[in-house]
Amino acid sequence: MVNYLDHKNLANTRIDPCRAREIAEAVARCRDQVREAESAAGRPEGSVRTLVATKTRDIGEIMAAIGAGVRLIGENRPQEIQIKAEGIAQACRERGFEVESHLIGQLQKNKINKVVPWVDAVESVDSAEQARQIAQRLAPGQTMKVFLEVNESGEESKSGCDPAAAYDEASAIAEIPSLELVGLMTIGTHVEEEAPIRRGFAALRELRDRLRHDGGDSMASCEGLSMGMTHDFPLAIAEGATEIRVGSAIFGERLFV
Ligand SMILES: *Cc1c(COP(=O)(O)O)cnc(C)c1O
Repeated sequence: MVNYLDHKNLANTRIDPCRAREIAEAVARCRDQVREAESAAGRPEGSVRTLVATKTRDIGEIMAAIGAGVRLIGENRPQEIQIKAEGIAQACRERGFEVESHLIGQLQKNKINKVVPWVDAVESVDSAEQARQIAQRLAPGQTMKVFLEVNESGEESKSGCDPAAAYDEASAIAEIPSLELVGLMTIGTHVEEEAPIRRGFAALRELRDRLRHDGGDSMASCEGLSMGMTHDFPLAIAEGATEIRVGSAIFGERLFV
C-alpha cells in the first residue's frame, strides 16, 4: 500500500480560494442538515455537536472548515496529529478561534505520549486498561475527557469493546481520577438497510441510559453519544446522538483511506 503521507503534504497551509469556498459551503449545508434532523427528531436546535474528521486533510483545508464555523475537529492517526496540530493551534491563535480537538482513531500504547498534549478528549478508548495507560501519561494535574468506544455492529474490522463488556469497562474507567468519562462512541454498522444501523445506535443509547441510571455519581458526566458519520448521521440524531463525526460531507471523498 502506498503511504498517503508521501503523496500529500499535510502541513500545507495554503488553499485555493475555490476549494476554500467549496468547504465553507459544505459546512453550511451540513449545519442545515443537522438542524433538520434535530427538528425531525423533536430535539432542540443545537443539541447535536458536529465534529469534523480531518484525516488525510491538510492544514489549509482544516482552517477553511474552521473559518466557516467548525469548532470541533477529530484526528485518527497520531502521526497526523504530529504533523498538523501545532500549525492548526498557531493559526487558530492568530485568528482568534477556540477549537476543540478529539482523537477518534485507535491509539497504541507507544503513541499515547505524542497525542495527549494535543487533544481535549480521546473518543476511541476501548478498555479500562487502555484508559489507565492514558491516565499514567498525563502531565501532573492534567485531566482528559474520554469516551468508551463500543463495537455495537460486532464487525471484526471495527475497533471498540465488546458490548457485553462495556458496562463493566465504563464503570472501571469512571473510577480513574484524572479521567472524565463523558460518554460512549460507536461506528455505525456498514450496511445499506437502516434497521441494523439504527439498532446499533439505539443499543449505545440504552447502554448510556443504564450506566447513568445505575452508576450513581460516578456516571454524572457520562452523557455523550458520539455516533453517526456522513452516511448515517440523520439516523444517529434520531436515536439520540449528542455528537456526530463527519469527514467526507465536509471535504468530499477521500483520495486516500
Ligand atoms: C473517518 C471517520 C469518520 C468520518 O467518516 P465520513 O464517512 O468521512 O464522514 C468518523 N468517525 C471515525 C472514527 C472516522 O475514522
